Amino acid sequence: MVDAYKGVLILAEQNEGELHPISYELLNVGRTIADKLGTELWAVLLSPNRCAAEELIYRGASKVFFYQSPSFGHPDEIVYKENLVTLVNEEKPEVLLIGGTNFGRSLAPRLQAALHTGLTADCTGFDVNEDGKLIQIRPACSGTLLAQIVNARYPQMATVRYKEFDEAPRDPGREGTIVQKQADVPNFTGVKTLGKLKSKEVDITEAEVVVSGGRGLKDSTDFALLKELADLLGGVVGSSRPLVDEGWIDRSHQVGYSGNRVKPKLYIACGISGAPNHLAGMKESAVVVAINTDPSAPIFKVADYGIVGDLYEVVPELIDQIKEGQG
Ligand code: FAD
Repeated sequence: MVDAYKGVLILAEQNEGELHPISYELLNVGRTIADKLGTELWAVLLSPNRCAAEELIYRGASKVFFYQSPSFGHPDEIVYKENLVTLVNEEKPEVLLIGGTNFGRSLAPRLQAALHTGLTADCTGFDVNEDGKLIQIRPACSGTLLAQIVNARYPQMATVRYKEFDEAPRDPGREGTIVQKQADVPNFTGVKTLGKLKSKEVDITEAEVVVSGGRGLKDSTDFALLKELADLLGGVVGSSRPLVDEGWIDRSHQVGYSGNRVKPKLYIACGISGAPNHLAGMKESAVVVAINTDPSAPIFKVADYGIVGDLYEVVPELIDQIKEGQG
């Protein structure tokens, strides 16, 4: 029964035919796992266009199962689930990897339940044990330890933390097979896209500069001060969770374990203590600047530059100096 399962399958995520970077990250980690297992790396793509399928081959997939329909432009978990259940039952991959994006996190448990298998969420590492089973590694207990999890059932399913792995390198000379599959497109799944909200700001997960505020802020309106600094640096505003819970700022700005994982070139933490659940979302930033009145705040342990001081004095000073520099 177990021998019937072969191959590592990754779900390529797309929107309006454009691949999400997580797809390339999954191909990178999928390649490592496939090589350790001595098996093939496959991708599945539901998309309105075929060029994304070719791109997956350039990034390392030896086979792409391709479902084409104009309705796949806006991903719908129910449609994905129906098509993926059929594919998995036909092809029997031993490993199935899905991105730890908002969409992937919503899809994966639906698929897991339909396939009657296990699911490890938000993995940050993988290995293969002597029985050829996938070891799925993820932080546990607020990131104080790394759990190693092995699924009892097949396919061994995991979501992979976004931005944890590099993207697979692109080689346009690489060859592979695109297997056109018959798409199952139900007339109505209960989800109707009425329109697309125009985001006023850059997606925080893609931003190169993030200026975040924590409980050191005295009022919700004080985010305007951080926004001024972020605007000057071409960045966006982030937040620790308590301020989001208070309703001071939208959840899309939350940085941390239960929020967004960011990896900007510059992260400025203003009035944030540096709790493990916050660090989990920003500690991979290239340069961290921390502004905090408490010299013993844990954020200083991960900061490249620490400023012990009142953010209401330091941030306006930074703004003035940047403006002066821009002259
Ligand atoms: P505090 O810990 O209260 O720190 C405020 C800091 O501001 C202090 O260090 C203080 O010295 C400093 N300060 C005060 N006044 C000033 C001033 N005028 N100028 C400069 N500094 C000043 N948290 C997240 O952020 N993101 C998450 O995704 C997240 N997920 C969680 C998931 C779970 C399951 C749980 C249990 C918790 C989660 N948390 C998360 C909460 C987390 O554990 C912390 O409670 C939270 O990060 C603390 O936020 P803070 O640093 O803003 O506040």
